[in-house]
Order: sequence, then C-alpha cells, then structure tokens
Amino acid sequence: MEQSFSGTHEYNPECLAGVSRNSYVAVGFAPEEVESVIRDKVDTVSNSIMRGICPRCAGPLRSAGPGAPAGSRITRCRCIPICSACGEDETSQQVLGQRLTAPWNWPVSRGSMTRRANSVKGRCGPAFAVADSNGDLLVLDDRGVTPLVNPPNTGGWNEDGFDR
Ligand SMILES: [Zn+2]
Ligand SMILES: [Zn+2]
Repeated sequence: MEQSFSGTHEYNPECLAGVSRNSYVAVGFAPEEVESVIRDKVDTVSNSIMRGICPRCAGPLRSAGPGAPAGSRITRCRCIPICSACGEDETSQQVLGQRLTAPWNWPVSRGSMTRRANSVKGRCGPAFAVADSNGDLLVLDDRGVTPLVNPPNTGGWNEDGFDR
C-alpha cells in the first residue's frame, strides 16, 4: 500500500474513518448514522490513492522530487498520502490560522490553493515552516520564530518551506 513520506505508517483507511467518525459525531450525528457516509468517503479516498490520484486535489499523487507524496495533517499519524502541492497547502492553512480542509470537503479547488499560497507569501514575506527536534512546527519569518501548535504533530513532518 502507499506510504506517504511523512506518515508514521502505511496508509490505513481506518485512520481516515476514525477522524471522520469523530467529526461527524461532534456535529451531532448518531454514530450508527455516519457509518455508511464514512464508508463512501473512505472508499473514494482509497480508490484515488490506488489509482495514483491525490485524494485532496484530484491531481497526480506523485509529483517529482523528494518528499512526495506528503502525508495529510488531517490524521495525527499522517498516513493519508496527498501530493506535494496539497502538503504545502495544508502548511499554508496552518500558517494562516485556518482549519485544515476536512476529507469530506475534498477535492480542494486549485484556485483556493493558489489564493492561500499567495496570501502566505504576502502576509509573512519570506517565511519558512520547519520542524524542531521534537517534530513541532515552527514558522520563521520577519517577526521571529512562532510555534505552530494546532494540530499536534506526530514528528513525521519532513517537508521544506514555501520557497522551492
Ligand atoms: Zn493534491
Ligand atoms: Zn494512520
């Protein structure tokens, strides 16, 4: 099965099912109501991955370069492989203080990814997100070093910044 560069284990559909189930229950669905919805979404994501398609943006999962595919930050284990562009987009969402786009709102539009990339550039100037020795994310920009605390990182983070 597909292994993301930053994941702590191979892609496991149950990790996606788990995070989705918690979210649906949190907004008031009964657990038994959400099972079929979750199964449909998990199947869609799994099928995309098996066909080499990024489940988050529907583009090619494997772009050139080291570190591809990235691991979505949606799960703590980061075992859901996404393309490099989506890995950077999730980083942008964190830098901008936005919620990560939930899997049931995938695919993410190219336009919104471009807008986020531009506003990160505009807001921070030259900025880098790096992992410290504990695997926590730090943003380095002209204001100094800012920890990124949400969501907690698993230590598998291994991408570089925005200036590629
Ligand atoms: Zn993608
Ligand atoms: Zn997992």
